[in-house]
Amino acid sequence: MTRPERAAAVLSALATTYPHAHCELDYTTPLELLVATILSAQCTDKRVNLVTPPLFRVCRLAADYVALPAEQLEELIQSTGFFRAKAKNIRACCAALAERHGGEVPRTMEALTALAGVGRKTANVVLGNAFGINVGVVVDTHVLRLSQRLGLTKQTTPEKIELDLMRLIPREQWALFSHWLIWHGRRRCTARWPDCPGCELRAICPSADKIGR
Ligand code: SF4
Repeated sequence: MTRPERAAAVLSALATTYPHAHCELDYTTPLELLVATILSAQCTDKRVNLVTPPLFRVCRLAADYVALPAEQLEELIQSTGFFRAKAKNIRACCAALAERHGGEVPRTMEALTALAGVGRKTANVVLGNAFGINVGVVVDTHVLRLSQRLGLTKQTTPEKIELDLMRLIPREQWALFSHWLIWHGRRRCTARWPDCPGCELRAICPSADKIGR
């Protein structure tokens, strides 16, 4: 099987397995998704989803995060870990949004990655999910691991893996493809104990039954 053939088979199997895959962070606006994604670094989406409802009640606009005393913001996001750095980034990011973008979240990779605490992965999450703009592929820990296991890349860095995936996956499916791999990584192909015997992709996976055994 060539790599493009494998990619097509993987897409088809994932689409059938996870017809309702979506971003698992809760949000109602682009700003909420941006803040939730910054909070999700080194933290589970479940934990972030517990923290954000009270936070979003206090902060609806970018200016609200700037006006909120740093200690209060830190307290609200404490359980997501690295809360001092995250609070600092969120406040700096929202100050820039208020000053340079009229309080709105920008819709380009360049403008987003110029914001504090926003790297290419976070920008891809926001662009793909809040705006439906596919500029790149989100490569988080699940996408990285599964792309390698499924034989879609031999690269090891997120930047190079993203380029391989952008060549293999149709652009209109980039955001969805990340959700599919993230869902499969959480539910079936976990880092330490992949459930190969029960896996829907077993017939087309070159790593089936070879990991941790
Ligand atoms: S067959 Fe195993 S290694 Fe391959 S995707 Fe499924 S769980 Fe992961």
